[in-house]
Amino acid sequence: MLLNDPVTLLFIIIPFGFMTTLMLCLSYVGSSRHRAPLHWWIAGDLVLAAYRAVDLLQPGVLGPEHAWLDMLSPQTAFLANTCGLLLAIACHSLALHQLCDRHRSVAWHLRTLLAPVLLYGIGAGVLLHNGLMLAWFFLFCVVSIGLQFCITWPLRRRFRGAWALLAGHVALLIFHAHSAVTLALQPPPALDFTEPDMFSLPALAMDFMVSFLFTLSFALMLQEQLRRQVVQLSITDTLTGALNRRGAVSTILEQERRQHAARRYPLSVAMIDLDNFKQINDQYGHAVGDMALQMFASTVTRLTRKDDVFVRWGGEEFLLVFPGTDIQQAQGFMARLRETLDTQQRTPSLPFSIGFSAGLAQTSVMNSREDFEALLRSVDKALYRAKRVRGRVEVVEAVDL
Ligand code: GH3
Ligand code: MG
Ligand code: MG
Repeated sequence: MLLNDPVTLLFIIIPFGFMTTLMLCLSYVGSSRHRAPLHWWIAGDLVLAAYRAVDLLQPGVLGPEHAWLDMLSPQTAFLANTCGLLLAIACHSLALHQLCDRHRSVAWHLRTLLAPVLLYGIGAGVLLHNGLMLAWFFLFCVVSIGLQFCITWPLRRRFRGAWALLAGHVALLIFHAHSAVTLALQPPPALDFTEPDMFSLPALAMDFMVSFLFTLSFALMLQEQLRRQVVQLSITDTLTGALNRRGAVSTILEQERRQHAARRYPLSVAMIDLDNFKQINDQYGHAVGDMALQMFASTVTRLTRKDDVFVRWGGEEFLLVFPGTDIQQAQGFMARLRETLDTQQRTPSLPFSIGFSAGLAQTSVMNSREDFEALLRSVDKALYRAKRVRGRVEVVEAVDL
């Protein structure tokens, strides 16, 4: 069926317009970090629209009143059309790649976009008047979609939307692989390009259903990422990058839910207060005080393990939770921290070393907010004792617990 009636044209324009508008709206709710994947995706959608629109530019498709639009011969339209589809897949693959938080140079992006399209174009130019042309096209689709599948695969753990994409990939891979094999085994006669090269309505419907599903999945993934980023911001301290109080409780109780007790206990907790910090502020100014806090936080982050929880509890007080660590090991950590801070090179901007006092406790149960608060009260008491002398770590006595 030829696309010469307005209803079929609307059939192309409406879903595409809807998808791009949806994506554009999302770009304005999102932060700048999310714009790159979004813009690659929109670029892919635009190319996808062009990929079908190209067919309309062949002579005799739109009727005599639109003859001024007849500017592509059937074989140019065919080449532009198939290259366009591969370019759209490449743009969408880049968008997915960016969601994986892997950042590459502009040159790398251009290579990834253009190299496959060029390679395909050369092969297509050679095979244009050969029966194997269509097999070559489907083979290229299999490789491109296969690559996109590989990029999406690791995203399935982070985004539910990735599952819909993967399902779409599998369906497309089966379809294209089947076509490639059938056409390679029994090549049809070469395309003669004497008539406009047009697609059927079922092919068009299939095209739009697939790209609609893909764009919706991608939109869902962007939403998930935005929501996660908002949650992350709400539990992170901006100065030091440590968790804030709200983040502490949710992270610690979440770990409790996730981790097996044998790995989690004994669990040690330290409350740290920097020594004479007011004096640092008074002597060097608040900006230097802030830098000292950042330096302390980055030292702690360097020394802690992945499962340890590091919280800026308030001003210059920090909480550390060490799962699967007994009190001796926690004391070892505090000694290492003190040594690292003492031996850290003084710089003109930070011409002093940072000292701290801490209260330390060990527990074998912490599965509610009440347990956590009781433990905090006791490490606080120990910290208070440590503060009488400063530069000490006091361990919670049984009576505190
Ligand atoms: P001590 O050894 O007894 O702990 O003495 P201290 O001076 O550290 O006393 P305290 O812990 O009560 O003082 C906290 C100081 O930390 C007061 C405040 O000016 C400073 N402070 C809290 N938050 C910040 C911050 O974000 N930036 C800077 N520069 N200073 C902060
Ligand atoms: Mg202090
Ligand atoms: Mg304090």
